[in-house]
Amino acid sequence: MKKTILALQPLLPDEMNVLENEYDVIRLWESHDPEELLQRHTYDVQAIISTYNSSGVSERLMMALPNLEIIAQFGVGYDNIDLKAAHERGIVLTNTPDILTGDVADAALYLLLNVARRVVEADMFVRVGRWHSGAMPLSSSVAGKTVGIVGFGRIGMAIAKRVEAFDMNIIYHSRSKKEDVAYSYYNDLEAMATDSDFLVLACSGGEETKDLITYKILEALGSKGYLVNIARGSVVCEEDLLIALENRVIAGAGLDVFANEPNVPEEMFKMDNVVLSPHIASATLETRSKMGQLVLDNIKAHFSGQPLLTPVCFAG
Ligand code: NAP
Repeated sequence: MKKTILALQPLLPDEMNVLENEYDVIRLWESHDPEELLQRHTYDVQAIISTYNSSGVSERLMMALPNLEIIAQFGVGYDNIDLKAAHERGIVLTNTPDILTGDVADAALYLLLNVARRVVEADMFVRVGRWHSGAMPLSSSVAGKTVGIVGFGRIGMAIAKRVEAFDMNIIYHSRSKKEDVAYSYYNDLEAMATDSDFLVLACSGGEETKDLITYKILEALGSKGYLVNIARGSVVCEEDLLIALENRVIAGAGLDVFANEPNVPEEMFKMDNVVLSPHIASATLETRSKMGQLVLDNIKAHFSGQPLLTPVCFAG
């Protein structure tokens, strides 16, 4: 008998076809009445495919699905999954690390370069014909400047590798100092912000990092400093960021993630010192296809009693 999978969002068509050939798939995102759909399938669902951009998997959802065995997250971050509830129920969790690291690190770099060199603004300058009335204002160079990376895991390290090629200095802050890297480690985030020209966020989301970036940190980054966020919107206190941008407490920001996606504070639409991007750091065909394949492989491994390829270990 086919296992039943609850999919919160679709995979790419190729991976979705494989999924639907091998399993009974409940397409929750298409339902006009998700509650009714879930009630109808209460005892059927054994696996959930969750995504970083879905409402995630709450304790309430787990309670509604007593036969749930595995949550396969399409994404490396899993801050929208109630880990404690999953752990207590013996539900296993997998994610998709490593395969998206390069694309996400690239996104950090394009945001950094875009906001410093005013690329989006320059494009608009040409399109609306302002070039005819004179030259565009100057931008800021990046060479010789210091990048403070917050979160020095897989993506943070890949950002450092790319930043080096732009002749920039690298410093970092994470929970722990890395023994095998030569860059200066800052235990104190505010001190690192003071020493940074660019503060690049690449840490995990969730309660532990919620509002890590406050007005105080932005003030420390200073009026010539830029914030780049490819981590999670929750890491930044968005109200503080708005005030800091409006008052030029910092020079600008490049943002791929927001506190309440897809809602972006409308004040930002009018700001010429902000580059906005709709949470697409890993959104290339190649990477999204690999992520979908890894989701399929983890589910297959689970149901055939094989070791999971990329399990999330529950800490504590
Ligand atoms: P990772 O290897 O687990 O790295 C996470 C890093 O965050 C680690 O260095 C960790 O510190 C640090 N960290 C955790 N809590 C912290 C805290 N309270 N203060 C400071 N640093 C803290 O994960 P990854 O693969 O690099 O991914 C990082 C995050 O990027 C994901 O969790 C996700 O939220 C985000 N992401 C975003 C996109 C996007 O589309 N924008 C795509 C992929 C991932 P330690 O090393 O000391 O443990």
